[in-house]
Amino acid sequence: MPLDTTIEYLKGVGPQRADTLKKELFIFTFGDLLVHYPFRYIDRTRFHTIRDLQTEGEQVQLRGILRRLEVLGEGRAKRLTATLRDESGVIELVWFQGIQWVEKSLMVGKEYIAFGRINAFNGRFNITHPEMEEATPDNLQKPRTYEPVYSTTDKLVQKGLDAKGLRKTMRTLLDVLKPADLPETLPDNLLEAYRLMGRWEALQKIHFPENQQESEAAARRLKFEELFFLQLRILQSRQLRKDTVKGFVFEQLGDFFNRFYAEKLPFELTGAQKRVLKEIRVDLRAGRQMNRLVQGDVGSGKTVVALITMLMALDNGFQACLMAPTEILAQQHFIGLSALLGDLGVNIGFLSGSIKGKKREAILAQLCTGEMQIVIGTHALIEDWVVFQNLGLSVIDEQHRFGVEQRSKLWRKSQGLPPHVLVMTATPIPRTLAMTLYGDLDVSVIDELPPGRKPITTMHKTEAHRLRVQGIMREEIAKGRQVYVVYPMIEETEKMDLQNLMSGYEALSRDFPMPEYQISIVHGKMKAADKEYEMQRFVRQETQIMVATTVIEVGVNVPNASVMVIENAERFGLSQLHQLRGRVGRGAEQSFCILLTGHKLSADGRERIQTMVGTNDGFVIAEADLRLRGPGNIEGTQQSGMLHFRIADLARDGQILTAAREIAITILQQDPGLRTPAYMRLRQYLDATAKESKIWSRIS
Ligand code: ADP
Ligand code: MG
Repeated sequence: MPLDTTIEYLKGVGPQRADTLKKELFIFTFGDLLVHYPFRYIDRTRFHTIRDLQTEGEQVQLRGILRRLEVLGEGRAKRLTATLRDESGVIELVWFQGIQWVEKSLMVGKEYIAFGRINAFNGRFNITHPEMEEATPDNLQKPRTYEPVYSTTDKLVQKGLDAKGLRKTMRTLLDVLKPADLPETLPDNLLEAYRLMGRWEALQKIHFPENQQESEAAARRLKFEELFFLQLRILQSRQLRKDTVKGFVFEQLGDFFNRFYAEKLPFELTGAQKRVLKEIRVDLRAGRQMNRLVQGDVGSGKTVVALITMLMALDNGFQACLMAPTEILAQQHFIGLSALLGDLGVNIGFLSGSIKGKKREAILAQLCTGEMQIVIGTHALIEDWVVFQNLGLSVIDEQHRFGVEQRSKLWRKSQGLPPHVLVMTATPIPRTLAMTLYGDLDVSVIDELPPGRKPITTMHKTEAHRLRVQGIMREEIAKGRQVYVVYPMIEETEKMDLQNLMSGYEALSRDFPMPEYQISIVHGKMKAADKEYEMQRFVRQETQIMVATTVIEVGVNVPNASVMVIENAERFGLSQLHQLRGRVGRGAEQSFCILLTGHKLSADGRERIQTMVGTNDGFVIAEADLRLRGPGNIEGTQQSGMLHFRIADLARDGQILTAAREIAITILQQDPGLRTPAYMRLRQYLDATAKESKIWSRIS
C-alpha cells in the first residue's frame, strides 16, 4: 500500500527531511502526510472589497488607487503610511522597513494590487508590509492562485520545508497516488443524498483547490467522514454495551420512595426534574445497566434527583452510594441528604480519608453486611477495602472532577452485575461535545431552575470601583446576608497567589473589622481540618465573609450567601466563573456577582467577562467557552484523545456533527452490524482503522 510507505521514500524527501518530519509533525508515512491538511489558504483568485473586510489575520487581495503616501514618526516609530481606496472604502497601508525603497517605488494616484494580512489597530483595519503590484493590464491577467498553507516548524523550515516546500512535497505525493489508493469509504447513496464530494476528489481538493468553494466542499466531505465514523464507533459500542451488560431490575417503587415523596420532599419538583426521574426509572427497569449523565446548570437541583434515585435502589433491596470530588462537598451532601431524609429510617453514612479508626471500621462493617443503605463519600469509596453487600447504584457528582480510572472502579464494586451508574455534571457541556465525549452515555438535561430564583446580577468592576464594591458588601451584610471573596490559585504561581490572597484578607480585615465583622479564610495550603472548621463557621453564619481560593468552586451550598466577589476575574476560565457565580443566588433574595479585573484586558479576557455579564445561561456560556478555548481545553476533556480531530472542529462544525450522528443512528437502526452490501464500505473502513482509532475509555 503506497499510503503505508515510509515518508523517506517520497521523491524530494530523503532520510534527513523524513527524520525531521517524524520528529516535528509525527509524519511517518505517505498516509500521514496526506492528512496533514492545510490550516488555511491564500486566496489570490479574487479581489476583496475594503468595506467587507472582517477577519483580523486574514490575507486579502485588494485593488485600488493609492491616495496618500507619507513618512511619519521618528526613530523606531518611523513608518511609511499610505491609503488605498477602492469603490467601497479606504484602508491604511503601513511599512516599517525598507521605507525609502518602498516610497520610491510607489506613486500616488496610480492603481495597485495590494496583498497582505489584515491587522486591527486602534479599532481600525490596516495592512502592514503589503505586497504591491501596479494594476497594469498585464499584471491583472496573470493567473491568480489559491494556495494551501501548512503548519510547519522552525526545524522544518531549516530543512527547506517551509510553506512552499511543504506545498511542493504535497504535490509530489498527490501525483504519486492513484484513485485506487484512496478508495471511497462512504456509500454512494449517502454521498448523493448529502451532496458530498467523493473521497479521492476531496483529498485532491483539500490540498489544491481552485478556489474557496472547492476547498470548502472538500473540507465538508472530510469533516463529515471524520465525525461520522467516530459516531458510528461510539454508537456501536454503546449498543454493544447495552446488549451485553445486563443490569439489576428495580421493578418497584416502595415505601422509601413513596413516603419521601409524600412526607419529606420540601418542595414541588420542577418539570425538568420529574422528566429526568422518569427517564431514570425507565433505565432502571430495563434489565440493562444504566449509564446516564444528568446535565444541569448550577443550582438546577440535581442532588434531590440523585437522592430519589437512590431511594429507588433501596426500595428494591439494594445499597446506593454517592461519590463527590471533595471532602467539603461530600460532607455537605451527607448533612443535606440526612436532613432531607429525616426520620424516614434510612441508614446513611459518610466515608472519607479523614474518617479513621473505630468509626471507619464500623462503617465498613455495615456496608459489608448491608446494614448501611446509603453511603456518601469521597474517593475513599473506591478503595479496595470498601466492600458492599449489594451495591445497586453509584452516583457520581461533578463527574468531570474524577479521572476515568476512578470512575470505572465504582463499576466493580458489586458482585455479579455492575451497579447502575448515574453521573452528574454541573458544567454544562456544549451539545457537540456532549455528543462526542458522552456519546455513548444516555444524557438527561435538567433545563429548568427551581421557581422563585431571582437571576443573579453580574457586574464588571475595576480597582477604581473598590469602594463601591465594599459598599455593596456592607449593604448585603447589613441585611444579614453573607459574602464570598474568591482569589485565583493556579498552581505554577502558587506562592504569589497565596500572597495575593493573604494581603487581600488583611485589607478586608481592616475594612471590615472585628467584632462587627467575622471573616473565614480557606485556601489549598491549609490542613483539611482547619479548612473544614472555617467552612463550617461560614455555613453556620458565624462569619459574614468567606475569603477563599477556588476550593469553594465545587458544589458548596450556603443559600444565605448573596454576594460573590471574584478578584482577578480575568484569570479564570468561563466555566470556572460560572461555577463560582452559582454559589450565590440559591435563596429567594437578589444576589450579586462582581467581577474585579485590572484595567487592561486581553481580547479573550474581555469576551469572557462580557459573556458573564451578559448571560446566566450555562449552556450559552459553555458554547462561548468552546469557541474561545477550543474543545481540548474544556474542563474534563483533557484526557480524552478522541477530541483530536484531523479536520473537524467541534466549535464550528455542529451542523455537520448533528447530521453525521443522525445518519449514523438511522443506519445502525436498519443494520446494526453493517452487514448489508450497501454498508460494506463502512464496515471495511471501520475494521481497517479499528486499531489506530483510540477507543475512548468509558466514562463510568
Ligand atoms: P445542583 O444542581 O447545583 O447540584 P442542588 O441540588 O444543590 O443544585 O440544588 C440547589 C438548591 O435548590 C438546593 O438548596 C435545593 O434544596 C434546591 N432545590 C432543588 N430542587 C428544588 C425545587 N424543585 N424547588 C425548590 N428548590 C429546589
Ligand atoms: Mg450539586
